[in-house]
Amino acid sequence: MTSFAGKILRVDLGTGKAESLKVPEEVYEAVLSGKGLEAWYLYKHIPAGADPLGPDNILAFACGALCGTGAFLTGRWTVACKSPLTGGWGDANCGGLFAPAIKQCGYDAIFVSGMAEKPVYLYCDGKNAELRDASKYWGMDAMEAEKALHEDLDGACRKKPCIACIGLSGEKLSLISGICNEGGRIAARSGVGAVMGSKRLKAVVLAGSLPMRSADPDKIKALSKELGRKLLKMTLPSGLGVFIGFGGRMMGHLPYMPMDGALTSYMFREWGTQANTSLAITSGDGPLKNWAGTPKDVRRMDMVYNPEHINKIETAKYHCYSCPLGCGGKLNIRGRKYVEFDETHKPEYETIEAFGPLLMNWSLDSIYQLNELLNRAGMDTISAGNTVAWAIECYENGILTNEQTDGLELSWGNTEAILALVKKMVAREGFGDAIADGVKRASERFGGKEYAMHIGGQEPGMHDARNDPQLGVHFVAEPAPGKHTVGMGIEYGAMSLCDICSWAPPAKLHPKKEDLEDTETLAYVSKANACYTMLVDGAGGCYYGQMMGVHMWKLVEYLNAAEGWDYDGDHYMEIGERIQTLRQLFNIKQGIDPASVKLPKRMLGEPALSSGPLKGVTLEKNREQVSSHWRAFGWDDKTGVPLKGTVERLGIDRLTEVDAG
Ligand code: SF4
Repeated sequence: MTSFAGKILRVDLGTGKAESLKVPEEVYEAVLSGKGLEAWYLYKHIPAGADPLGPDNILAFACGALCGTGAFLTGRWTVACKSPLTGGWGDANCGGLFAPAIKQCGYDAIFVSGMAEKPVYLYCDGKNAELRDASKYWGMDAMEAEKALHEDLDGACRKKPCIACIGLSGEKLSLISGICNEGGRIAARSGVGAVMGSKRLKAVVLAGSLPMRSADPDKIKALSKELGRKLLKMTLPSGLGVFIGFGGRMMGHLPYMPMDGALTSYMFREWGTQANTSLAITSGDGPLKNWAGTPKDVRRMDMVYNPEHINKIETAKYHCYSCPLGCGGKLNIRGRKYVEFDETHKPEYETIEAFGPLLMNWSLDSIYQLNELLNRAGMDTISAGNTVAWAIECYENGILTNEQTDGLELSWGNTEAILALVKKMVAREGFGDAIADGVKRASERFGGKEYAMHIGGQEPGMHDARNDPQLGVHFVAEPAPGKHTVGMGIEYGAMSLCDICSWAPPAKLHPKKEDLEDTETLAYVSKANACYTMLVDGAGGCYYGQMMGVHMWKLVEYLNAAEGWDYDGDHYMEIGERIQTLRQLFNIKQGIDPASVKLPKRMLGEPALSSGPLKGVTLEKNREQVSSHWRAFGWDDKTGVPLKGTVERLGIDRLTEVDAG
């Protein structure tokens, strides 16, 4: 017995046909589930040159191998497709209860192709899978639609359903839209919401209650007991968040210390990801003023965004499925300036950074409003923030006029103008409509390409590669470029991958100085990062579990116990390598030229900043480092195309001949 459901659901919105297909065991052995299963299926079934917003694109929803086994931090689901934003591989990831809901319907993944003639939702309860009319929900924001579906269906289902749906941004085909679940949590990246909108698929409603299983539940229980003890071990007096910004200032002056998993888990429990904001502002990690500012520009802004302010208005914490940490929270925001809502999710670090320091916006209250507005619309806050930053810099430099911006004075830190512009982007009105497809399209239309911060078409996550050059390699080399969740030099030390993988270099690298060079060792660090991340995604794991390191979150032991296997770390890292190579092959099939994907000049340090922790830093070696990374993967170091020998070694040719049936 393994943890896999063993089947996928294939739905054609054009014909209305839904069929259950068995997946050969060798596929699970090769790529696990989650993003691996998606990579296998989408590489094989999306034709070359498919229109991302056309019927040939396939939208996949998958849970990971460990979902439902009792392994901690394994409740993430991944949505994947051909991205309309980049034209290549696209994926996004979210938590909540939707991942186990897929497995409880008897599937590891759901693949949706075609386009419906009128709005529909997919209903599945483990016995039946059918398309239903969604006309009455079309036009609702993501939270309204989810609420209305619950009101209509809860009593009629044996189990309260889990729902993933799009808001207005997805319906209006904004290329920076995502897919929401559980009241505005969002799988935000790669324009996945626009693909769902193009298919006129408003929601996926899952109400199955089939059992989930594993090969060795006792072993998993023991591993989770040990992990739970470690995760909850560290406690500190409350109120320490005010010192985090000071810690960021000191970072450049202290010797390199690998982060410890216990400290990371404490930070997530106490504050969530927003703990990073004031640290990022002062340390050089967080981009300021459209990636061109220095801490001098935002002096003491770390106190505005210190995490204790947000903790004070937190009314409840929440957890993803099978996670004892609970980094999510609900906030009471009633009556705050700019705010039209009573409640919002605790904003993630990425959201605060993208609408705070990136725009020189000093209003924390406005962040609550923007967070709720964008979650309801289902728009990616990272992409939206980068796009607004571009608009402000264009306006400040006379590239955009008042006439073009519908009268909005887009100066740095103009909170009212930022709020008004985002509302227009969500509604696709006037100037907001013109820039609602992200910064690349906006700059192609209006100019200001030098201020447009995108990598291969996608806006980068809120971490500065000049502070972590390893991240600069992943921003470029990742098949979904610009994602910040594939690997960072500053996390490599904590992960201790060298203890499970014979070729992963020892974790003793300073993330700033030595990383500026191009060495074989560094190429294997970035390869190890990428392979392990793909493995985590195949397992359905949380990136924050990954950050805690292999001695705390024992992924290899968990997988062996779940599947009844006895593989070592090298074997599992090869699974990660296979998934990443499949995603790269997907891009090659779709006509992407990996060598054309580059960091914007500003992110390379051209020109270099004149003060602050990133003073004088340039990433001159980034291009060579990307080539070395490709070489370490067995891909051509000039073109990024996987070499024939690599494809054979990983058994990909054989794997793509196998089909579900
Ligand atoms: S750490 Fe946070 S995001 Fe990760 S599984 Fe737990 S609650 Fe979800």
